[in-house]
Amino acid sequence: MVFDQTLRDHGLTLTRSAVTTLQINVGKLCNQACQHCHVGAGPKRTEIMTRETAERILTLLGASTGVATVDITGGAPELNPSFRHIVSASRQLGMHVIDRCNLTVLFEPGQDDLARFLADQEVEIVASLPCYTRENVDRQRGRGVFEKSIEGLRALNRVGYGADPQLPLNLMFNPGGASLPPPQAALEAEYKQRLHADFGVVFNRLFTLTNMPIQRFADFLRHSGLTEQYGKLLVDSFNPHAAGKVMCRELLSVSWDGNLYDCDFNQMLEMPAPGWRTIWDIASFSTLPSIEIAMGEHCFGCTAGSGSSCGGTLSAG
Ligand code: SF4
Ligand code: SF4
Repeated sequence: MVFDQTLRDHGLTLTRSAVTTLQINVGKLCNQACQHCHVGAGPKRTEIMTRETAERILTLLGASTGVATVDITGGAPELNPSFRHIVSASRQLGMHVIDRCNLTVLFEPGQDDLARFLADQEVEIVASLPCYTRENVDRQRGRGVFEKSIEGLRALNRVGYGADPQLPLNLMFNPGGASLPPPQAALEAEYKQRLHADFGVVFNRLFTLTNMPIQRFADFLRHSGLTEQYGKLLVDSFNPHAAGKVMCRELLSVSWDGNLYDCDFNQMLEMPAPGWRTIWDIASFSTLPSIEIAMGEHCFGCTAGSGSSCGGTLSAG
């Protein structure tokens, strides 16, 4: 495998250490159907985590030491009927909770009090907003999404997000095409200036994410005849400093049906975490059945340029 060989060529090995972050993917249901979604999520998807599965995860969390962060993703995680229960029970266990929010979900039926709920629980929000202009956002995420996203950010600002240190509001950028993200710090400054000047919106950090060549983005590359070119760009941009910091070293990802993976990307590719099976086969997230990580060519997406993870850039090297 080329990724494996590239690591070896740089004298690197990629192994797992203790799990500090549990990423829970509560399902593929989403109120949007974005062009670049690596989950293939959308309004018609029916794969969704049951309450029984959620309860099992919470029991395991209670039995685990070392896990400090619960990172909830989807789809639009807030549409899962167990979402608020997972949030409040995780907070009661002392976890830092992250909600990966698409912003427009705040205006879905039954979500009128969502911003207030998230603020009351002191949940960190990571919200996707691939540009500060209407044209680019609507092209990638659907017509009308930009305007609703700005309204969502304003609603979050109104309950204290972006200003209160207990209520971090971070944004997630991904490129519109087959290119790597621009430098994170400069783009963050540009976003801050434009969103505040144009819309009065404030936020904390901007995370840049490289598009993974899987699911809908892989379809986009195929239809545009860019699959090879993009793959080569990722390989040619390999950054050994970023490779030493990829998120799978300390993150475990659980799917809507309780299977365990090294990251959300591997979950979408159905590449299970070596040694781990399902949440029903383990007694906690603390004991590592294996330090191996399931790697593939898509891993070049995490190590290209400045590197990429759910928390943004990995290395300036
Ligand atoms: S990218 Fe996010 S908001 Fe868009 S369809 Fe996928 S899960 Fe939904
Ligand atoms: S794609 Fe997943 S397994 Fe591969 S390097 Fe990135 S986080 Fe690790």
